[in-house]
Amino acid sequence: MHVTAIIAAGGSGRRLGASVPKQLLDVGGRSILARSVGAFDRHPAVTELIVALPSSLVDDAPAIVGPTTRPIRFVPGGATRQDSVARAFDAVSGTADVVLVHDAARPFVSEDVITRAIDAAAEYGAAIAAMPVSDTVKRIERRDPAQIIVETIPRESVVLAQTPQAFRRDVLRDAVALGRSGVDATDEAGLAERAGHVVHVVEGERANVKITTVSDLESARAGAGTGEATAVRAGIGYDLHRLVEGRPLVIGGVTIPSALGAQGHSDADVACHAATDAILGGACLGDIGRHFPDSDPQWKGASSIELLRRSAAMVREAGFRVLNLDVVIVLERPRISPFVERIRAGLAEAVGIDAGAVSVKGKSNEGVDAVGRGEAIVAHAVAMLGRDRCE
Ligand code: MG
Repeated sequence: MHVTAIIAAGGSGRRLGASVPKQLLDVGGRSILARSVGAFDRHPAVTELIVALPSSLVDDAPAIVGPTTRPIRFVPGGATRQDSVARAFDAVSGTADVVLVHDAARPFVSEDVITRAIDAAAEYGAAIAAMPVSDTVKRIERRDPAQIIVETIPRESVVLAQTPQAFRRDVLRDAVALGRSGVDATDEAGLAERAGHVVHVVEGERANVKITTVSDLESARAGAGTGEATAVRAGIGYDLHRLVEGRPLVIGGVTIPSALGAQGHSDADVACHAATDAILGGACLGDIGRHFPDSDPQWKGASSIELLRRSAAMVREAGFRVLNLDVVIVLERPRISPFVERIRAGLAEAVGIDAGAVSVKGKSNEGVDAVGRGEAIVAHAVAMLGRDRCE
């Protein structure tokens, strides 16, 4: 099944009092928009991504959103949300079976909610995520300056609509066409209903909040902001290589002048190998040997910093982010202290985190054992990983 996700981020609303549109505001180290796009990019059923943005942001959008694993297109939004979704719909692949529409302002949407919406749209034609109402609901009339209650509505008969809203492509085409004929609605489900389609409801989630007010933004930041609040996994890595003549000594992607170098396939970079195992381990994604086996010629002579970069992308795709990395290199000679800052910067760049979150320490083995005799180099690494969404 081909599933296209439209992320509606066309508004240039500055209601939150910031100098940038709200979808660019930071929540826990990433923009609201990047988080919303990431939720769909990680979803196993999603095939392609289309983001409707204010036209002034389209050129910078790839840098704002960052790399994705699925094909992504950016289209200029229109004057209203409805216009923006219509323009995005024009960019949907002709092979799409199901099209999701999601508000960029809901960055904490979960894989489960997306799955429910896709499955229901595939089966019934149209479905939206929605939440039951726990408060008593009253219909009011305004009799200026007062408001009076004219009816108490059974709360079982109402739900609060969230996104994603999901449609078979032909159903959304009808909804978009109705919108273009001049009918206004606050969401695509409203247009689909008026076009004569039955829209189903699937269970939303309380965490799938729409960030609309300053208070919403503060709550989101409190929930997703700090490393401590989201730290959920630790990973450990270890590596050893023999030291031999005629090989370069590469540590964390930095070639260090040395009489001896590390023996092995690839560049035998113990720091990268230990760091790779630490981040993969924290995400329970196996180890470096499973993803980049020695027996596969495509990894022969591969740069280990590139394997670390690829592993960090896998970790992100699995929904984690690396919060920090601590690496110990055990090596009798030469001393690595003059190179530590370059090694930290290289590891941080490959993992995609700040160099301030990467520590590299050199140790000697005090002449003891094979490492102490200069016959081998060892690295240990510990990584802390966080869940990259509010849970
Ligand atoms: Mg190794």
